[in-house]
Amino acid sequence: MTGFSDIEQRLQERERQNRYRRRRVIESPQGRTLQIDGRQVLNFCSNDYLGLANDARVRAAFKQGIDDWGAGSGAAHLVCGHSKPHHELEDAMAEFTGRPRCLLFSSGYAANLGVINGLLSVGDHVFEDRLNHASLLDGGWISRAGFQWFEHSDVDSLSMRLESCANMEGRKLIVSDGTFSMDGDLCRLEEIVRLGRQHGAWVMIDDAHGFGVHGIDGRGIVEPDRYGIDDVQILIGTLGKAFGTHGAFVAGSEELIETLIQKARTYIFSTALPPSIAVATLTSLEILRGEEWRRDRLRNHVQRFRHGAEQIGLTVVPSDSPIQPVLVGAEQAALSISAELEELGILVTPIRPPTVPDGTSRLRITLTAGHTEQDVDHLLSALDACAATVQAIA
Ligand SMILES: *Cc1c(COP(=O)(O)O)cnc(C)c1O
Repeated sequence: MTGFSDIEQRLQERERQNRYRRRRVIESPQGRTLQIDGRQVLNFCSNDYLGLANDARVRAAFKQGIDDWGAGSGAAHLVCGHSKPHHELEDAMAEFTGRPRCLLFSSGYAANLGVINGLLSVGDHVFEDRLNHASLLDGGWISRAGFQWFEHSDVDSLSMRLESCANMEGRKLIVSDGTFSMDGDLCRLEEIVRLGRQHGAWVMIDDAHGFGVHGIDGRGIVEPDRYGIDDVQILIGTLGKAFGTHGAFVAGSEELIETLIQKARTYIFSTALPPSIAVATLTSLEILRGEEWRRDRLRNHVQRFRHGAEQIGLTVVPSDSPIQPVLVGAEQAALSISAELEELGILVTPIRPPTVPDGTSRLRITLTAGHTEQDVDHLLSALDACAATVQAIA
């Protein structure tokens, strides 16, 4: 068979392998519960860690933003789409991250592609953690720089890769998630920064899951007092997670941001976010930094969950973040348990290959400040009820 003639067969194959993905239609706003097929379920899969996606104040700001600035931005930033709210949000994010400048992108995916591809080309070198987010890996590949993996959070592996390019010309960029999206663990920032210095490489940290959750006032794992722009030259954050809105930002030096404005194709050739999103995000930023009780509550839920999970004998991986994966191993086990949980009114996403390596399928549980302690207990007793399934399959 040639061309596209096997497209249907490929789909069937995928279905047989249990790898066929389907979307659910959500019939309610984001929150601790979601409505699906007319039924309320407890939501343990969203990245809305602080419960801001449907916050009344963020919603009101969004509406005001639409009244003041209309529905769309009309053009790319370099044409006539760069409005005052975009500019104000960039300034606010620069101040928040303790960096000279910030640049908004329409998504985290676009930011990562644009930044890496804008800075690197043939003859340069990119070093990526094996478990980096797909957008970071894709950015590395399309840049046409020499691409090197290092083993997950393995400093020796990274050091070896850097050594292997020690005498080569070209730019060197080390790229890592700050808080890893599937495991919830943090990168070894201190060592990465040290190796960056030692090898004259720049360091790019994507802390999509760390902002709002970790650090003083939710500044994430790249603490500005500890890591300046000579340590972590490129800092990425996304707005669709703890900020509860949409989009992403890159923070760094004046020269970095000006270079990206000239060279990042996903920035130059893409319509600016609606200004109303920037207005809404200015409000969510204020809430995110100001309302420490949301982080306290989140930390409390994380401890409660981990303690409870241990008691019922689940395999939780080391993670202090709201991402709490429960390892089940076999793909089929992850699917069955997740289906069983849904019967019990609990929504948890099964994560399986190719998103994670074979044999490490898991339930990716995310906790949020919107949950109550009772919600966490309810999740634990449902997991306990499913434990038989886990053991039967394991
Ligand atoms: C979610 C995520 C992205 C993508 O951000 P979007 O705004 O959803 O496109 C990028 N990097 C990491 C680490 C993420 O978790």
